[in-house]
Amino acid sequence: KPRRERRRRVPMLSVQPKGKQKGCAGCNRKIKDRYLLKALDKYWHEDCLKCACCDCRLGEVGSTLYTKANLILCRRDYLRLFGTTGNCAACSKLIPAFEMVMRARDNVYHLDCFACQLCNQRFCVGDKFFLKNNMILCQMDYEEGQLNGSFETQVQ
Ligand SMILES: [Zn+2]
Ligand SMILES: [Zn+2]
Ligand SMILES: [Zn+2]
Ligand SMILES: [Zn+2]
Repeated sequence: KPRRERRRRVPMLSVQPKGKQKGCAGCNRKIKDRYLLKALDKYWHEDCLKCACCDCRLGEVGSTLYTKANLILCRRDYLRLFGTTGNCAACSKLIPAFEMVMRARDNVYHLDCFACQLCNQRFCVGDKFFLKNNMILCQMDYEEGQLNGSFETQVQ
């Protein structure tokens, strides 16, 4: 059975080496420093445990690191790459954190999904749009609906 790949938040410990000198899992050299980092059941030079994305020294930014698909990442990059913004209010699919989104009140939308849900008109910056029962509407459809007295608030 294939195991589902888990996103992992891994604790990192700064420890003083005791006993036999440990080899660093990053550079494979022996660790002679006063402190070494222990993470993922391995030992590391403080200089060798770095975020694969931004190259920051993980021992300096916190006491946890994040792993996914053999990448070691800092929290910021992990969230940027694998976190999520929420579900798109139009198509209800998850939106990855790195994607650009449109926001209206508490809702988030894929850029592609952000269109009038009646006539599919896309909005440009500065256009007015309206929310009714969580539906995005263009001004025309909104005003048409208002004649029926069913629409609520305006959002810029
Ligand atoms: Zn090393
Ligand atoms: Zn990073
Ligand atoms: Zn969507
Ligand atoms: Zn419309």
